[in-house]
Amino acid sequence: MVIRRPQHTLSRSNVSGNALKVLYRLKRCGHQAFIVGGGVRDLLVGLSPKDFDVVTDARPEQVRALFRNCRLIGRRFRLAHVRFGREVIEVVTFRSSRSGAEDDREHTDSGRILRDNVYGTIDEDIWRRDFTVNALYYNIADFSIWDYARGMDDIASRTLRLIGDPVTRYREDPVRMLRAARLSAKLGFGIANGTARPIRELAELLHEVPEARLYDETLKLFHAGHAAASFERLRQFGLFRYLFPHTDRALRADENGVVLRFVQTGLDNTDQRVKADKPVTPMFLYAVLLWFPILEVAERIRAEDGGSEIEAFLDACDEVVGEQREYTAFPRRFSSPMKEMLLMQRRFHNRRGARARRLLQHRQFRAAYDFLVLRAECGDADPELARWWTEIQTLSPEEQHKAFAVKRRRRSRRRRRASRRSPAGGPDRGQAG
Ligand code: ATP
Ligand code: MG
Repeated sequence: MVIRRPQHTLSRSNVSGNALKVLYRLKRCGHQAFIVGGGVRDLLVGLSPKDFDVVTDARPEQVRALFRNCRLIGRRFRLAHVRFGREVIEVVTFRSSRSGAEDDREHTDSGRILRDNVYGTIDEDIWRRDFTVNALYYNIADFSIWDYARGMDDIASRTLRLIGDPVTRYREDPVRMLRAARLSAKLGFGIANGTARPIRELAELLHEVPEARLYDETLKLFHAGHAAASFERLRQFGLFRYLFPHTDRALRADENGVVLRFVQTGLDNTDQRVKADKPVTPMFLYAVLLWFPILEVAERIRAEDGGSEIEAFLDACDEVVGEQREYTAFPRRFSSPMKEMLLMQRRFHNRRGARARRLLQHRQFRAAYDFLVLRAECGDADPELARWWTEIQTLSPEEQHKAFAVKRRRRSRRRRRASRRSPAGGPDRGQAG
């Protein structure tokens, strides 16, 4: 079905100028050119798209010949990236997934697609899209929308519905289950019954998906401004444990609810930062998710091997991070600073002397401090301690010097005097803290 320009609300003025340049050049050179996927979907529901994906009947080599600023990438399938400063427009050639093309695709035994590089036409391309609302094509030739899968109806009723047989589609690519959770969180859409129903049972297929891809998908779930909602959906569909098994276990054993509160508050904070355009880092995200599991493992290690608290903590970090990597490939450039930052949580307890003062200069201080505040908010750290580290940052260097060193002498002198006045166990005890 083709929806003519007057019958839909998508306006060119909301499409990125660079995407339009690409579309117009393709058209001028005699090719078909459409925007498809999240760009069209988001504009139709009134969100501003994060990027615009262009599809065309031109082959990747032909696309490259048309744009100076173009690179071909991809192994699983070849596609073109046209770069304009910081913006990259992805240009993909229509691909086929049905009708005679089957022989050219590689599957695993469970049906997962390994490679699909068979070029096709637009009416074949639609079958490889996941949800109907992601299969709406905006045609630059006449500004119409091509809708083969009744995606417009699902936009109207705010529903995610897989194209084709859901079980087959999830088997082909289990990440589609994560995408269902993610997009329903992002868009606030419901999930059609048939699309939601098989997820629980098929969730374990996520084991087959490469860790690097699950890591990418994790960042899309948790760093796009809808982390808290994504978390809720993932748990609702039994998907979360295939991304964060340690965290999932900690949540199940969470008797007083502190783990859940902590994760939810941490994800809420992340969402607020994304909405305020502040930077977010996987280091902090993983710290939020792995903190309680690490504490738990540290306790176990100490019970088993004895040894110092710090050693047990460091070993626990390595163990949990190591196992986490088998699920989502969490890069070392984030896991190393995460470990430092978590270790600093213990060092915050010491507020006296040069070592404590040096914490302020530590390159992980800011993150570690934010983490401490989060813990205090959730009843996992003393709020007074968090307040102290908040206040110290507002002081001048001289005042800071005093706060870290001089106070100690005065305190202990006062305490000495006090203890001289009242015997041990008297009413003054316990006020210092
Ligand atoms: P967003 O950009 O908001 O994350 P999106 O739907 O645009 O969402 P992309 O990963 O940018 O997600 O994918 C672009 C389009 O490619 C999708 O809209 C969909 O049509 C198709 N697509 C992406 N991933 C898959 C998949 N795993 N299976 C089938 N189609 C997919
Ligand atoms: Mg997109």
